Amino acid sequence: MDHFLYRNGALHAEDVPVAEIAAAVGTPFYVYSTATLLRHFQLFDDALEGLDHLVCYAMKAASNQAILATLAQAGAGMDVVSGGEYMRAKAAGVPGDKIVFSGVGKTAAEIRLALEGGIRQFNVESEPEMEVLNATALAMGKIAPITIRVNPDVDAKTHAKIATGKSENKFGIPISRAREVYALAASMDGLDVIGIDVHIGSQLTDLAPFELAYQKVAELTEQLRADGHDIRRLDLGGGLGIPYARDNQAPPLPLDYGAMIKRTLGHLGCEIEIEPGRLIAGNAGLMVSEVIYVKSGEDRDFLIIDGAMNDLIRPAMYEAYHDIIPVVEPAPGAEPATFDIVGPVCETGDTFARGRQMPAVAAGDLVAFRSAGAYGAVMSSEYNSRPLIPEVLVNEDQFAVIRRRPTFDEMIKRDTIPEWL
Ligand SMILES: *Cc1c(COP(=O)(O)O)cnc(C)c1O
Repeated sequence: MDHFLYRNGALHAEDVPVAEIAAAVGTPFYVYSTATLLRHFQLFDDALEGLDHLVCYAMKAASNQAILATLAQAGAGMDVVSGGEYMRAKAAGVPGDKIVFSGVGKTAAEIRLALEGGIRQFNVESEPEMEVLNATALAMGKIAPITIRVNPDVDAKTHAKIATGKSENKFGIPISRAREVYALAASMDGLDVIGIDVHIGSQLTDLAPFELAYQKVAELTEQLRADGHDIRRLDLGGGLGIPYARDNQAPPLPLDYGAMIKRTLGHLGCEIEIEPGRLIAGNAGLMVSEVIYVKSGEDRDFLIIDGAMNDLIRPAMYEAYHDIIPVVEPAPGAEPATFDIVGPVCETGDTFARGRQMPAVAAGDLVAFRSAGAYGAVMSSEYNSRPLIPEVLVNEDQFAVIRRRPTFDEMIKRDTIPEWL
C-alpha cells in the first residue's frame, strides 16, 4: 500500500498534487511519502511484537538524511554497509547503539570510525575481517560486539544479481564451517561474540527460502550454545520483496514474515533484528519525468522522457519492471497506446520498458514511475553529465526539497584542471 493516488483526476503524493511539485522543482525528480515510509516501518515493528527486537532499516535502499531522520524518529535502527552510510546515520541522529555494520569489505578505517562513534554490532563476513576487527579494537582499547554472517546455501529464487545466500556468493562464511569460525572468534580478546547474522538476498517473493535459512540458524544457535557461546542476538537480514507490477501476486506481508520468525526462532529467547530496505522505501517513492518527444519508429513508437538510466538504473541493471503511469488520470475507457519508453542517454540500455501498454501520453505530459523509492536515487549517477535529480519529501499537505538539483556550474567545479594545462 502507498499514498500515491489519483484525486480529482490528478496523481497526488499524500495531499500534494504531483504536478505542483514538478512545477516547483522541475523534472525529473524523486518524491517520497512520509506516511508510506512510516507505515512500512510500523508493519515490521508490529510483526515482531512480543519478541525483543529492533528493525534496522537497510539504508542503502534510500539514504537521504530526511528519510533516515523520519525513520529514526519512529524508532528504527540502521543497517549500514560503508563508512559513508555510518556517518549519514549518525548525522541523521541515529545513536551508535542502534547501528549495525554489514558488508564484506569493511576497511580498518571504517572499523575505527564505527568503534569510535559507537556501534551496536559488526556483522562479520570472513576470518580476515575478524582479524582486522580484533586488532583494531585491541589497539583502541575497545571490545567489538559481533555476529558472524553465515551463508546458509539456500536459493532465494530472486534475480541473480541480488541473491546472496548461495554457496557461490561472496557473502558470509559457509554455515558448515560456522562452529570452527565461532571458536576462532571466541579466542580473540577484542571481540564479543553475541550472535548470528544471515541475509539471503533481496526481492524475495516467497517465505520458503527465508524459513529454510532461519531453520538452519535455529539449529546453529543450539549447536553454538552447546559449544559454550552465549548466542543472544539473531540478525535475520532483509530481503522481503514488494509488488512492482500491480497485477502480479502480492509477496508475503510483513505480518506473515513475523509469524514465521516467531515459529522458527521464537523459542530461542534471542533478541531479533531484521534489516528491511526495499519494503520500507520501495513503494514510498516515485520518479517523475516529463515526456520530451513521442517518436514514431518503423515498427514501434518511442516515448522519450527526460529521466534516464543514470537517474533510475534498475531496469538497465536488473531488467526490473516499474509501473509507469500518467500524472493526469486517464479518462475512463481511453484507448491505451504501446510504447518503448526510453531516456535520452546514448546507450540502448537506457530503456525503461519495451512494448509497454499504457494510457496515451503526449510531449509535455508528466509520467510517474511507481515503486522507485528503493535503489533509485541512491544508485543514480551523473552519466552524460546529467545533474543528480532532486529528491522531495511529502508530509500530508507539505513538501520539501530534501536534496536539490546541482547547477551545471557546481557539477563542473568538482573537477580540477592541473597546473600544467
Ligand atoms: C541489501 C541488504 C539488506 C536489505 O535488503 P532489502 O531487499 O532491501 O530488504 C539487508 N541486509 C543486508 C546485509 C543487505 O546487504
